[in-house]
Amino acid sequence: MDEKVCVGCGVKIQTEDPSEIGYAPKAALEKEQPICQRCFRLKHYNEIQDVSLTNEDFLKILHGIGNTKALVVKVVDIFDFNGSWINGIQRFIGYNPVILIGNKADLLPKSVKKEKVIRWMKREAKEYGLTPLDVLLISSEKGHGIKEAAEQIDHYRNGENVYVVGCTNVGKSTFINRILKEVTGEGDIITTSHYPGTTLNLIEIPLDDGAVLYDTPGIINDHQMAHFIDKRDLKLLSPKKEIKPRVFQLNERQTLYFGGLARLDYIKGGRSSIVCYIPNSIDIHRTKLEKADHLYATHLGELLTPPRKEAVESFPELVPHEFTINGKKKDIVFSGLGWVTIHDGPKRVVAYAPKDVHVGVRHSLI
Ligand code: GDP
Repeated sequence: MDEKVCVGCGVKIQTEDPSEIGYAPKAALEKEQPICQRCFRLKHYNEIQDVSLTNEDFLKILHGIGNTKALVVKVVDIFDFNGSWINGIQRFIGYNPVILIGNKADLLPKSVKKEKVIRWMKREAKEYGLTPLDVLLISSEKGHGIKEAAEQIDHYRNGENVYVVGCTNVGKSTFINRILKEVTGEGDIITTSHYPGTTLNLIEIPLDDGAVLYDTPGIINDHQMAHFIDKRDLKLLSPKKEIKPRVFQLNERQTLYFGGLARLDYIKGGRSSIVCYIPNSIDIHRTKLEKADHLYATHLGELLTPPRKEAVESFPELVPHEFTINGKKKDIVFSGLGWVTIHDGPKRVVAYAPKDVHVGVRHSLI
């Protein structure tokens, strides 16, 4: 087949999968200068569209950044901070400075102090080996903190180019679209240009001093709950409103089910309150540990949903992860679903999630 590349970004055009890079409708191929849908939307609507890449291609991009002098803006989802972290990022981007942006701040309870979350983000980043120049907390959806982010980016880039990186679904596109409005107003000054021979698939947005802001494709976060649920239920996992913490006073040997997606067994530590930061639309059921397996076997897809009934067959089995909490309160995080806060230890819990969904423990965020 005749191979065509997009005159916008240089990527090979494909007509099969709209969610993959290089997609264009068949009619676009007949054009002398074909353009992929992503560039089309950017050019005509000033709108960045999601694309995703495999790990290997993504690492190539990060390496590419390491070989130039630039400011890196790393966007993470504050609601899935650890799950949306890009491991080893510092190693790949070399000595380039990084600004860390926590997005979706609107989901945190209003009572939470922004400064505290920022301190927490700094500490977590440090544990991952990253020392950002600055840490910001924003909501791209609501437009909170965007102006400040645009100013900080401009301040720290020192006339150099900017690369925005992040996992898919952290809200990177929403963020860049906001930044575009902030720096360009409504005017159509976005251009896309073709770099022959590049395979980087970067979208470039010119800044006023001739430097460029690059949108990099998002890397897919394989450990997220979203991969295991029906597309129609995805919106349950992408809340648009502040998450209301739900508090349970649990006795030893009691279990909580989060829909049918995950489970927490409280094993040892005396009567204790457990605070759940799980999207409001997911029901939480409490039961006794000895009844928990039976409840799941008989009520998955009904009382315990999502998964929805017709998706129960293909829903992966839940696998256990044991945690002993010592010292200060900790969060048990189910990647892409939320977290539960366990108060000061010693306490023992077992957290269940579908195989491949990352379950971890961290210093309590709230
Ligand atoms: P990308 O894959 O990183 O480019 O992410 P998108 O910009 O497509 O956003 C992924 C999902 O997160 C969408 O459902 C957005 O509506 C949602 N989202 C993005 N930013 C925010 C935010 O600040 N708050 C909330 N609550 N949701 C957001």
